[in-house]
Amino acid sequence: MSQTHLQLLNWYHQNKRNLPWRNTKNPYFIWLSEVILQQTRVAQGLPYYQNFTKNYKTVKELANAPLQDVLKLWQGLGYYSRARNMHQTAQMVVNEFDGKFPKTYQELVKLKGIGPYTAAAIASFAYNLPHAVIDGNVFRVLSRLFLISEPINTTQGKKVFEALANEFLNLNTPADHNQAIMELGATVCLPKNPNCSDCPLNNTCKAFTIKKMADLPVKLPKNATKTRYFNYLVVVNNNQIVLKKREEKDIWQHLFEPILIESDREMQEPEMVAVIYGKGWFNPKKAKISYALTYKHILTHQKLICTFYVAELKGETPKINDGIWVDAKDVDKYPTHRLFEKFLLNYKLPI
Ligand code: SF4
Repeated sequence: MSQTHLQLLNWYHQNKRNLPWRNTKNPYFIWLSEVILQQTRVAQGLPYYQNFTKNYKTVKELANAPLQDVLKLWQGLGYYSRARNMHQTAQMVVNEFDGKFPKTYQELVKLKGIGPYTAAAIASFAYNLPHAVIDGNVFRVLSRLFLISEPINTTQGKKVFEALANEFLNLNTPADHNQAIMELGATVCLPKNPNCSDCPLNNTCKAFTIKKMADLPVKLPKNATKTRYFNYLVVVNNNQIVLKKREEKDIWQHLFEPILIESDREMQEPEMVAVIYGKGWFNPKKAKISYALTYKHILTHQKLICTFYVAELKGETPKINDGIWVDAKDVDKYPTHRLFEKFLLNYKLPI
């Protein structure tokens, strides 16, 4: 074991945060933590991990749960495709592997929603196999430690870092090594103002030697963000509200929300009324239609301008656009996205 490896491991054993997924070798729990922590901070993901492990103690329990319940438990965490893939993966593990996670990287990576990163994490953390885990923290530490200016968000860059990470992997203790380097990136080698004076690797770090920490890692600029205009019509009548399930292959698939009319620019109230006339959902003259709220919502490659209108019907409950009428007190039983959740918190519906 090299001196650098030893310094990193010693530092890790003395400084690591006590996180529940670090105290288990159960591949199901490790997989759950990895799915939850993708694009999520530890503090935000922790209660979700605890809820999932409490509600579904085995992969079989998760596989047998209705998707709607899984989405409900996931609510607020965003990137809902993760929850849907997670549910399908659980079913795959149960149906094709007799409820036991595969024990090799090659088999793990074939499972839906398990990419190279998660496969390496399960292979090393659960089975101590020699696969380097490469997340944003690892990219940062390696690029600085070895002064690599290859962009980390290109196919070529990913290959370079994957090779480097596996070369740097401590084959005596792959699990602890992977945890240590991720922990160093998360707590010391921070994106801005890394705490180099407390870093166990500052005697070998090339970027620190020439004070180039702030220039690394290199990332190519992202694609332009697309703006979408979501106009929601919240139809209410006599303590009931219309919800519709998102079936399209798009963001928030399988979540429930009010009726959505997407447009290529912001829609004003008369246009909303014209759409209602055109669709024939109900007679707008017999309803009270009013503007409620507008939110801006930023996703990875999309900016959403979401405007909510409320239509208060007087007595009729027609079938509207595949929607279902739901008692107002039961709305929170349906999985929904954060935006509609925010609307319900901030706007007093006339029910
Ligand atoms: Fe990161 Fe600084 Fe440590 Fe280098 S010395 S690995 S830049 S924290």
